[in-house]
Amino acid sequence: MSLTVLMNAGPWLSVPPPGYGGIENVIATLVPELRRLGVRVVLASVDSSTLPVDEKFSVFPDGQFHALQRPYNQVCGISQAHLSGVVRVLHSRDDIDLVHDHVEAVGLATLAAMGPDAPPALHTLHWDLAKHPELYGNLDGGDRVRVSGVSASQLARAPRALREHSVGHVHLSTPLAVGADRRPRADKGDHLITLGRINPGKGQDVGARLAHRVGVPLVLAGPVGPYHRPEDLAAAGDEARQNPDVRFFYDEVAPHVDGDLVRWVGTVAGQERDDLVAGARASLFPLRWEEPGGTAVVESLALGTPVVATARGCLPELIENGRTGLLTTDEDELGDLLLAAGLLDPDECRREAALRFTPAVMAERYVDLYERVRQLAATP
Ligand code: UDP
Repeated sequence: MSLTVLMNAGPWLSVPPPGYGGIENVIATLVPELRRLGVRVVLASVDSSTLPVDEKFSVFPDGQFHALQRPYNQVCGISQAHLSGVVRVLHSRDDIDLVHDHVEAVGLATLAAMGPDAPPALHTLHWDLAKHPELYGNLDGGDRVRVSGVSASQLARAPRALREHSVGHVHLSTPLAVGADRRPRADKGDHLITLGRINPGKGQDVGARLAHRVGVPLVLAGPVGPYHRPEDLAAAGDEARQNPDVRFFYDEVAPHVDGDLVRWVGTVAGQERDDLVAGARASLFPLRWEEPGGTAVVESLALGTPVVATARGCLPELIENGRTGLLTTDEDELGDLLLAAGLLDPDECRREAALRFTPAVMAERYVDLYERVRQLAATP
């Protein structure tokens, strides 16, 4: 296939990301598979990105994530400087067939504003956007800019202007799903795990209360605001409470963390993360928000661990109730489901991941969407 795609990863983190980085992880997973399919990839990112690509360019030497705490106009200034770089490149060459943009709102608006001068573009939505319609108000004249989601439910809840430009969704994937059906069965322990940022939307307070109610050990893995290790949070003192996720942790979660039945282990990575998930009886997602994509959900399946969750956001699309997990709309029922999760077959979870959530499946689906976007742009 001869297709050259400008992949806009934005200026916030390098690709692959040094630690947390949802969007940058998706790009790091997608790009090698696209190149295997013969797509040429030009990466717009920061200098420190190490992902192998055909070409790359950047405005900033390294990720500007630290600057997101600065005043809004400075954050916008960084976005705009990066996007001006992208626009300059698009104006200076005519071999880019399509832009695949992952930069929230600002990237989309910029591409829309370029009008017919720009190549057709696909903008992938990564967040739950229902609460921020104002960010995406103006797509007038942006018919060359199309939108994809990371789940059908995310798109269904997106602002109308975006839905009208949508070409469909592509579920998230994980490299762990490759060969997942051949992975040796991990020794299952008795514990439960929640894997993800600790915040009200992800609902770890519900999980911690449930663990005590049903008497099953629970490992809470993930950062609290910017703090990745319990000792870092402890050392930060009272000032840390300015962060809403830190306040949530201290007020709602920490009272149930006894270091014995319920433990917070901070951010886990690599083999430690995989072993914790693979060894769990179930992964728990007691969600209070509409989870848009759920990487940790598909990772859990790939590692052979059934999912117990509130049926919100993308969960019903990713989990087959009764086979790869147990879902409920009733928070109180989650406790009973946790006890039943041990009856589900880990091999069914792995097989599902190997069938639906591999990087290759994701890349093929994006290539289909690229074709669709180009066709739509070519049709007057
Ligand atoms: N993650 C991790 N270590 C942790 C907590 C989370 O590696 O301690 C990873 C997790 O494996 C997943 C990502 O962070 O790959 C979270 O992505 P997800 O889509 O589940 O949630 P988001 O944070 O993007 O809402």
